Amino acid sequence: MIAVLKPGTTPSQKNSLIKWLESQNVEVHISEGKDYTVLGLVGDTANIDMDLIASLETVSSVKRVSEPFKQCNRKFHPDDSVIDVSGVKIGGGNFCTMAGPCSVESREQIIEIAKSVKASGASLLRGGAFKPRTSPYDFQGMRAEGIELLLEAKKETGLPIVTEIMNANHLPLFEEVDMIQVGARNMQNFELLKELGKTKKPILLKRGLANTIKEFLMSAEYIMSEGNTNIVLCERGVRTFETYTRNTLDLSAVPVLRELTHLPVIIDPSHATGVAKYVKPMAMAAAACGADGLMIEVHNDPMHALCDGAQSITPEAFAEVAKKVNEIREVIK
Ligand code: PEP
Ligand code: MN
Repeated sequence: MIAVLKPGTTPSQKNSLIKWLESQNVEVHISEGKDYTVLGLVGDTANIDMDLIASLETVSSVKRVSEPFKQCNRKFHPDDSVIDVSGVKIGGGNFCTMAGPCSVESREQIIEIAKSVKASGASLLRGGAFKPRTSPYDFQGMRAEGIELLLEAKKETGLPIVTEIMNANHLPLFEEVDMIQVGARNMQNFELLKELGKTKKPILLKRGLANTIKEFLMSAEYIMSEGNTNIVLCERGVRTFETYTRNTLDLSAVPVLRELTHLPVIIDPSHATGVAKYVKPMAMAAAACGADGLMIEVHNDPMHALCDGAQSITPEAFAEVAKKVNEIREVIK
């Protein structure tokens, strides 16, 4: 349920209303806009007398939120959320490009790529240390050492880092990581989501391989329900009958999510297409349809990459993509 307060409601009126609502056994989430305050009520709202609240002098309207996702719902928080990742802002007009290799492979590799993507305008460095591979016989990532190398690359370039977690027991290793990624395969690992919800770390939540937008938002809700509201959503393609691309990029998720949620939405054209030459057109399309950013796999030697070489673009190609994306952003301003 949401209650929109009238402009001019004083802080003491607000506080006494919130106190009273809390005494009715609901949690109250406050969203302060420029001209309005929205109170989001979560919990057992069935016994709350809507008419009584609507009749209060300070209340302009009361509505039930029918969707099962509450805290990530735009009705609860009409303004775009802006997520701050160690000084890099994402959302609310702040566009963020995350770039780097699928996997951290060596000190030289990650530092060289970090320097080149930074020079082309990337604002976050990505790189997998714990890799969710389909085959247990494939390269599983450098694990803890991979995180150490990402931190070295961060020191060298100043770029904050984003890397994937697969097991909540690994959380101590992520202490200095700026943003924690939940990969597509773990989007519905609810115990992991709950543990991440207890932290304050920015979370990059990727859409599952075959999950609906509603399920995607329910996963964000799992994290938020534990207190962590620092979430960026990432559409990375869904599985369809198509075989020319690795997945099918659901770009319509951008306007749909924009309407349903206040959380920022970015696009990963690398995992979505699986083909390096398709990354540029889809990155441009993502910028054109209003995404808040991109995640792009960049490798200095794609032919010899230990993971996802076919979809990795070179640093030179990334420079060109970044330039084209900027041009598109200028056009749609
Ligand atoms: C990744 O970003 O390296 C990754 C494994 O992506 P996804 O979870 O989208 O497949
Ligand atoms: Mn990858």
